[in-house]
Amino acid sequence: KETRSENLKNRPPIVTVMGHVDHGKTSVLDVLRSANVVSGEFGGITQHIGAYQIEHQSNKITFIDTPGHAAFTEMRARGSKLTDVVVLVVAADDGVKPQTIESIKHAKAAKVPIVVAINKCDLPEADPQKIKNQLLEYELIAEDLSGDTLMVEISAKTKKNLDKLVESIVLQAEILDLKTDFDSKATGIVLESKIDVGRGAVATVVVTSGTIKKGDFFVSGLKWGKVRALINDKGQNINEAPPSSPVEILGINGAAKSGDDFIVLDTEKEAKTLSENRAEENKSGGNPLTFATQDSAFADKSIDELNIIVKSDVHGSSEAIKSAINQITHEEVKPKIILSDIGMVTETDVTLAKASNAVLIAFNVKPSKEAKKLAENEKINIVSYNIIYEVLDYIKQKMSGLLSPDVQETVTGTAQILEIFKVSGTGKVAGSKVIEGEISSGSDARVIRDGAIIYTGKISTIFREKNQAKQVSNGQECGITLKDFIDFQKDDTIEAYSVTSTERMI
Ligand code: GDP
Repeated sequence: KETRSENLKNRPPIVTVMGHVDHGKTSVLDVLRSANVVSGEFGGITQHIGAYQIEHQSNKITFIDTPGHAAFTEMRARGSKLTDVVVLVVAADDGVKPQTIESIKHAKAAKVPIVVAINKCDLPEADPQKIKNQLLEYELIAEDLSGDTLMVEISAKTKKNLDKLVESIVLQAEILDLKTDFDSKATGIVLESKIDVGRGAVATVVVTSGTIKKGDFFVSGLKWGKVRALINDKGQNINEAPPSSPVEILGINGAAKSGDDFIVLDTEKEAKTLSENRAEENKSGGNPLTFATQDSAFADKSIDELNIIVKSDVHGSSEAIKSAINQITHEEVKPKIILSDIGMVTETDVTLAKASNAVLIAFNVKPSKEAKKLAENEKINIVSYNIIYEVLDYIKQKMSGLLSPDVQETVTGTAQILEIFKVSGTGKVAGSKVIEGEISSGSDARVIRDGAIIYTGKISTIFREKNQAKQVSNGQECGITLKDFIDFQKDDTIEAYSVTSTERMI
């Protein structure tokens, strides 16, 4: 079914809470969840399924239940983006700390907007203004400092301004204009999965588009199944799960992996075939992690930017490299420094490089032992240089790799179809005369009728007086068959051509 714009409706935002340890991430998640549970409501006992949804004045928000940037980055490294908004929790009595900074970097690399929750504002030593000033350095500028980052002063303990936090998330989501087709066949991303005694394989999926229905056939990673039951975050059995909702799914034929895709298909046969094909591809060394099936709203790839991470020894070289890289300009690709920092290459840099598909450059610095090991495991290449122009050459070479090659086409021969005849064992053959150049079997070819191209493919076989021939030249008569095409007619023109592609350089 086609996605038509009138089918598109706003879906709830999906939120990940990040920040430094002990700044109150878990407390914020807990208090938002419990505030949403109507006490005494039947079935209102929340189930921990990896994510939950709240409703505030008819606005829904989905929260991923695992705080911190580790899960977020791991998801991204697998090509799944499952966060629309990051809530950055910063304790007002403690300020910006290393994991605060890392969270900012990860969110920015993923191009996910940040809403700042300045927490613990109930404490006497809380100094929200100081936090806002510290965040300036990371280009998070509060509205009262004439920026546009939404910041809310809250307390998870006294529940102060939690409604304001929710409203800010809703506002941020409105800016993002998260639209999707609710009626299309569903897609989703696996958040968690387990094998449950009694229930079998259970996967928590967050729906990214369309609506998952009971009875749907689906593929998830290398597994497939039929939706036997859908259970929401309140432990209730439901029949349908709309976009952005987290839902437990029963009926999968094995344990899925977190970050796997989830795609609904029309029939059992399609689901089985796709999962078999994937298993086959997986065996033959294909990468099972990159199934390009995510909703475009969640796609996270930009073909025309080369993401770059540079770690260098001193501030001077960091600045020099940054400005030199930014001077590399090209119409179709551009360099994008997602992180330029001083110090050795750490595990975080490697994870970030993997998640952002970035090149990782060590300038006059070495990777830490752990980073080196992780890079080896993750097959991330840490390139070391100590001369700036070598860095630039490397980056230009990498950017060139993103350019589509120059494609040149040359017509090698033309033939006119004189009559159509049948050859037993072969079928319809185009009896033709070469009127220009040469035509070879296996060559790229097209058929032109009244000036319009009606077929593009390949020359299959050439016959010369009932024998197969490799090639025919100008003036010769021959029989021609084309690959997967027999609808040729008298007076059609067959044009054989060759294509050469040359890599372009920046
Ligand atoms: P996380 O490590 O970021 O998940 O932080 P937690 O949610 O576990 O909170 C760390 C500590 O801070 C706990 O002892 C909480 O009780 C406390 N805490 C969290 N929020 C607040 C708050 O708003 N005010 C005060 N005073 N303490 C808080």
